[in-house]
Amino acid sequence: MTETNPVVEIDELQIELCILQSHLDRLLTRIHQNEAKLHRFQSLETQLLAINSLRELVEHILEDTKAVFELDFISLVLIDPKGELQQFLKEDGLPQETIPELIPLADDTQLKPWFGKAFHAYLGPCKNHHRILFSGEDTPASIALLPLVRRRELLGCLNLGSRESTRFTYGMATDFLDRLRSILSVCLENTRNFEMLRRTSLIDALTGVNNRRFFEQRLGEEINRAQRTGDPLSFLFLDIDYFKRINDTYGHQTGDMVLAEIAGQIRSQLRNNDVLARYGGEEFVAILSGAELDRAVEVAERIRSRIEHHSINDHNGETIPFTISIGVSAYNPKLVPSMTKEDLQGLMELADQALYHAKRNGRNQVACGGVYRKKAEKQRVAAV
Ligand code: GH3
Ligand code: MG
Ligand code: MG
Repeated sequence: MTETNPVVEIDELQIELCILQSHLDRLLTRIHQNEAKLHRFQSLETQLLAINSLRELVEHILEDTKAVFELDFISLVLIDPKGELQQFLKEDGLPQETIPELIPLADDTQLKPWFGKAFHAYLGPCKNHHRILFSGEDTPASIALLPLVRRRELLGCLNLGSRESTRFTYGMATDFLDRLRSILSVCLENTRNFEMLRRTSLIDALTGVNNRRFFEQRLGEEINRAQRTGDPLSFLFLDIDYFKRINDTYGHQTGDMVLAEIAGQIRSQLRNNDVLARYGGEEFVAILSGAELDRAVEVAERIRSRIEHHSINDHNGETIPFTISIGVSAYNPKLVPSMTKEDLQGLMELADQALYHAKRNGRNQVACGGVYRKKAEKQRVAAV
């Protein structure tokens, strides 16, 4: 029987303990790193889900995803058969030519074979045919191509690249990437639908009244109708006074509530066939069909007074006071039988100048820009 030396045994145990401790330390470091990564990922996810403009979505995808996943390369393919997505980006000040990482494709024929029928992500080396996805001189050693799919429609593809050949390899665990691609697919579909709706809608979502697009269509139609019938038409420009202060004092959300409330109050003073539209921000326009200047001024004064005496409470029960200034102008088809685009502009400018006077004279008032006449004739602006 061999005798064991207790001193040697204790030494060995201590060595094993040290090794275990160092494994544990490494594991803890990994856990902390993963926790930080998860946190960054969750905040990226929250941001992406709150976005409803394509420009913001593209910017967040290309900038934040690259940072969160610590990537060397990134690009985004968007399938854009009618060029609508490129148009949305252009309108929002982000033309596609300025973002080399954004690749619009007219259809999915080139991409589909890369992912198979089940739209699997591709992880592995960057092959020759993948090079079109990474425009710089440098090419990634390994890549992850994530097809963005909704209802079996390929919407695009997010392409991640690394200089390390082992960063993305076939068969590796892809929990984060799978989640990212599901979220992005939903965000992309929602944003696309939202942008289309925004452009085809005629109603302003916040206030429930018509939007500027509708107003611009209707103004021409109303002028034509006035010319046909010989009836006058009046035009109001309405702008909430010191609205910025309301936002600053009570918060943007309460500002939104006030905006919707004021729109409702204005609408309540108009007839059904009058047009009311949100012109932008805290400005509204109204077309009063059949109304002469005097009558339009009366209506404007009624709106002004109604809004001055109407107040609402914020969530603390505090009263929020608000007032509005209004500029009025009128069109008489007997005075100006034919209206050019410039004349339409002139009619609106007349009300806009009157509004400017109302603001200059102290706000919470109606100012009259008069009846529109061709350029040569002098316009008179008088406070009411
Ligand atoms: P004035 O009496 O000269 O018209 O002053 P104002 O503060 O109303 O005008 P200004 O043009 O300085 O500010 C308009 C404000 O309206 C600034 C902008 O943040 C706010 N605004 C525009 N659109 C919205 C919106 O949809 N919701 C909210 N809450 N605020 C908006
Ligand atoms: Mg304004
Ligand atoms: Mg204002």
